[in-house]
Amino acid sequence: MTMNNGMITYSKTGKLNVPAYPIIPFIEGDGVGPDTWKASQGVIDEAVSKSYGDRRKVRWLEVLAGGKGFHQTGSWLPEETVRRIKAHRVAIKGPLTTPVGKGIRSINVRIRQELDLYACLRPVKYIPGVPSPMKRPEDIDMVVFRENTEDVYMGLEWEAGSAIVRKIGDLVQQEDGRRIRSDAGIGLKPISRFGTHRLVRMAVEYALEHQKRSVTLVHKGNIMKYTEGAFRTWGYEVAKKSFGKSIVIEEDLAKEHGGKIPKGKIVMKDRIADAMFQQILLRPGEYDVLAMPNLNGDYMSDALAAMAGGLGMAPGANIGNGYALFEATHGTAPKYAGQDKVNPGSLILSGAMMLDYLGWKEAADRIRKGLLKAVEEKRVTYDLARQMQGAVEVKCSEFAAAVIGNL
Ligand code: NAP
Repeated sequence: MTMNNGMITYSKTGKLNVPAYPIIPFIEGDGVGPDTWKASQGVIDEAVSKSYGDRRKVRWLEVLAGGKGFHQTGSWLPEETVRRIKAHRVAIKGPLTTPVGKGIRSINVRIRQELDLYACLRPVKYIPGVPSPMKRPEDIDMVVFRENTEDVYMGLEWEAGSAIVRKIGDLVQQEDGRRIRSDAGIGLKPISRFGTHRLVRMAVEYALEHQKRSVTLVHKGNIMKYTEGAFRTWGYEVAKKSFGKSIVIEEDLAKEHGGKIPKGKIVMKDRIADAMFQQILLRPGEYDVLAMPNLNGDYMSDALAAMAGGLGMAPGANIGNGYALFEATHGTAPKYAGQDKVNPGSLILSGAMMLDYLGWKEAADRIRKGLLKAVEEKRVTYDLARQMQGAVEVKCSEFAAAVIGNL
């Protein structure tokens, strides 16, 4: 651990160097963002202080985006914000508003693209006591690696009737013989070998490092052969090429290993996305790490979060090479803005993921245990209280105080 000017650096060999007093930018967020951020910041600071005394401390730096950015600078995502997050490498954010249909493009998507945060990481683990629609929610312990920069999320789509749509329609008819209706909007869905390789590589590395049993490639390759199907092909390709000695392909497990995973190895398997939605409901215990393209990942990570107790408790991170942005997975929940009401659990647990990423594991574990204890004591926010028998409903700030009391 080095004392320096607070800058986190990243070596050519892929190692993050974190000073004792790192400067970490934060975006408060819109809607319920300010409430949940205030609550989370207090928990993170207290956990670090309890774990390391004066030896380590986060120096927070506010950067602007969303409504606050627009009101103070005239920009929803000021250049300065992107520049600072890039410079400091690790940041955390609350939710930001994205208008549906028209208007500004998603600020979240833009930040992810600007920093090339190619993996959206969503660990989903059941917290005992949290209400869940599942019969055996304790079986849920999965980590989703969702590709973050490609697929239909690239925003390569055009309005029905526009010149570009007409040109694409003509081209498809000329070259392929099939006709796209003249009143259709058109979107493109690029999925590359490069993008797939780096995502699946990160997922397999994670599985090996955390001693998980398997990595499952989730795709809709039976229908979309050259995008989702290629994701499957390239996923296996990189797993075999880069981790050949550490993986077993599912097909070979029964044939060559009597169905038993050899020690120190992980199983690589794949599932078609619709079947996988059934699997996570019916046999969640059979899956550990999931790697998938952007759109499947969006749907599946929210479904998993709901199964494990709701968006209010689901943390998330966007990771690239040497850059990471941690964020609550829920949105701005505008009807609760400024009421000190919603569950800050998602952002608090994202903060714990951030501390893990910095290598401050003791503080991260302390937060997870503190939150578990607060839920066990049934002092929870409205979303959980309305479903838990005998629970006391507390405010957002009071839940954070209960977590701090249990650190
Ligand atoms: P949302 O803000 O996530 O809220 C939907 C519902 O989820 C809320 O009404 C509430 O349910 C529940 N909820 C969300 N956060 C909660 C929390 N912390 N604690 C307890 N309950 C919580 O989704 P939305 O209404 O679809 O989206 C609103 C805005 O947020 C949109 O502009 C959207 O684009 C944006 N958004 C941003 C991000 C991001 O920044 N990463 C992510 C998603 C959405 P009840 O009504 O049942 O209480």
